[in-house]
Amino acid sequence: MKRVLILGGTQEAALLAAQCTQLPGVDVISSLAGRLQRPTLPAGTVRQGGFGGVAGLVEYIREQHIAVLLDATHPFAADISWHAAEAAQVCRIPHLMLVRPPWEPTAADHWLAVASLVEAATLLPAIAQRAFLSIGRQELPVFAQCTHLWFLMRMIEPPASETPLPPGLVLLQRGPFAVADERVLFQTHTIGALVSKNSGGQATAAKLLAARELGIPVVMVQRPALPAGVQVADVAQARLWMQQYLI
Ligand code: NAP
Repeated sequence: MKRVLILGGTQEAALLAAQCTQLPGVDVISSLAGRLQRPTLPAGTVRQGGFGGVAGLVEYIREQHIAVLLDATHPFAADISWHAAEAAQVCRIPHLMLVRPPWEPTAADHWLAVASLVEAATLLPAIAQRAFLSIGRQELPVFAQCTHLWFLMRMIEPPASETPLPPGLVLLQRGPFAVADERVLFQTHTIGALVSKNSGGQATAAKLLAARELGIPVVMVQRPALPAGVQVADVAQARLWMQQYLI
């Protein structure tokens, strides 16, 4: 029996876990950060919560006799990716990063690329009074000082009660989203700009199509740097890569 550790929190990670649990002689452990109260649980064994940095992850890999480490975390979850790369090197086990391709603007888009959410918050007052913040809930406090703007803030679960928030409305929704629904959201709330991380993927791309159709500018936060190492772009490629070590 060979054991694979999938660092998850994404749809791709859940899909891979479901496929790997079907492989004979393979034991799958998925790891979630434990941020959500009610996460969608992948197939196989699931553990939740941080490992305690690189040292904790190394210890876990050794204790659990992990044979292969697959990092299928979100492209903006950079800390865990750096920890995983280092831990795999220390433990001398194969390590793969599944990194979805970023979204690319077309000629019909009006994107303003920024390096961080702090930069987005600085730029925003110059382009819109009402903005759609599609960035999850962890980094909303970055916008708390934008008290002269109004925000539609979409996330899966509500922020903690003590979280400083800017003026606006919290909308609890889990993707995937349809373009027609996204268009209605923009129009209902007279949104003048969208703030998004360049997460890539299909599940949340509809907001970009709706913004394009309506001529709404998008403040697009660029991705953080990831460690060097073997990367694939989708689940099918990740499964192929894994099979060489698992079968
Ligand atoms: P992060 O900044 O890279 O990680 C911060 C710390 O959280 C890590 O050092 C690690 O703690 C723990 N951690 C993160 N992912 C983990 C995992 N899969 N299993 C166990 N521990 C994990 O990550 P983040 O941006 O807070 O994101 C947390 C999780 O949410 C990720 O797994 C990611 O896939 C998912 N997610 C993130 C975003 C986003 O925009 N950042 C969006 C959608 C989903 P220790 O150092 O103690 O090990």
